[in-house]
Amino acid sequence: MTSPSLVGKTYLVRTFGCQMNLHDSERVSGLLEACGCNEVGSFEEADIVVFMTCCVRENADQRLYGQASALVSTPAPPSGKRVVAIGGCIAQRDGEFLAHTVPSCDVVFGTSALDKLPRLLEEAFASDVHRIIANTDEPGTSFSTDLPSRRARSFHAWVPIMYGCNNFCTYCIVPHVRGRERSRIFETVVSECARLVDEGVREICLLGQNVNSYGRDLYGSPRFSELIRAIGATGIERLRFTSSNPKDLDDGVIAAMARTAAVMPHLHLAVQSGSTRILKAMNRSYTREQYLDLVRRLKAALPDLALTTDAIVGFPGETEEDFLETLSLFEEARFAGAFTFIYSKRPGTPAALIDDPTPAEVIQGRFDRLAHLVEDLSWEANQADLARRVEVLVESTSKRFDSVMVGHSPKNQTVHFTLPEHACASDLVGKIVTVEIDRARTWYLSGTMVGEAR
Ligand code: SF4
Repeated sequence: MTSPSLVGKTYLVRTFGCQMNLHDSERVSGLLEACGCNEVGSFEEADIVVFMTCCVRENADQRLYGQASALVSTPAPPSGKRVVAIGGCIAQRDGEFLAHTVPSCDVVFGTSALDKLPRLLEEAFASDVHRIIANTDEPGTSFSTDLPSRRARSFHAWVPIMYGCNNFCTYCIVPHVRGRERSRIFETVVSECARLVDEGVREICLLGQNVNSYGRDLYGSPRFSELIRAIGATGIERLRFTSSNPKDLDDGVIAAMARTAAVMPHLHLAVQSGSTRILKAMNRSYTREQYLDLVRRLKAALPDLALTTDAIVGFPGETEEDFLETLSLFEEARFAGAFTFIYSKRPGTPAALIDDPTPAEVIQGRFDRLAHLVEDLSWEANQADLARRVEVLVESTSKRFDSVMVGHSPKNQTVHFTLPEHACASDLVGKIVTVEIDRARTWYLSGTMVGEAR
């Protein structure tokens, strides 16, 4: 990677949105480091600011426009010139509009233009020409899997297995900005995972908008269950994946999860609504009954599985009866956690054209009722681990106390434990330790480390 004029420049990447964006940001950091740039911690110090954006939720949109616009009044870095680049889904969606409405913006690059970023930055530094726009008109014509990546954590890696989505849920902008499903070649994914294991990675999370349909575009039918087994055989200790669409999660995948020791007992399976009528309006392609049947099959095959979900409250046309069905589905599925959202219109999607007279306070009331139920269910799920020993992959010290370490359990619960006397916090990061749980709260577990870290 050669970009001589970028050598020695400082950079900051700010990420909004999902895991796919976090991974794209790791690639941006890897690219810039390969060009000789150095990361800094503040906008004031940065010659290059890159925003990696997400347009799935309205608040990520607002945060981008707010933060990027505020850069106009941020003092210039010591070098005297700052270049601001905006990539990801909002860049793909808004293209030229973004360049003209955010005064600080110099470069807009689409979801397929990651590899062009160094050249675009060079151009922006070399001239006073602003508003350089690249590849925002063709979502998802290619992807850049061979770019360098600078992992945020040496022991954890995101591995994209596919890009784009074919599902066109009526509220979702993703297929419009990330394009149709494109799977990576099976052998390439497996060998990348094997290389990561050799490099000391202990946990891999496979990424895709709909991982269960992995391979359909390349091989004629999905090969996700095969992929799980093949990656499990690389020696990886912990394997996770996201996102799973319930309509494509079949018994082959369930069997592969149950028989692959590295697959962690946690699955995030977005339901979005408990009402078949609303699911149909969302174009989710499954019914309430089919979702609950899937939950039963998963729990029968994986008895210790922690199931989490996403739900949207206030989708246009949702009635009190529909909402009660969401509540009862949550009760029945006994989710261990959930991300819940109030529906917000995403311009460019079919649902954005539907007017809904339901008052905002009614929708807020439903949201609050669901949030309370989620808290109760999370608390209940965590009680099951009280007095148990859980294996924790240690990530860092706690933000509040240097003597407390934080990591995640196999079920993806946040676990806190006190740093043992004479132990060094940095030596434990990236290690797997056993923690005996003596406190189970709604959002976390805590306990005491027993035995040696490994
Ligand atoms: S499955 Fe639906 S919600 Fe998920 S990315 Fe595709 S269109 Fe969006």
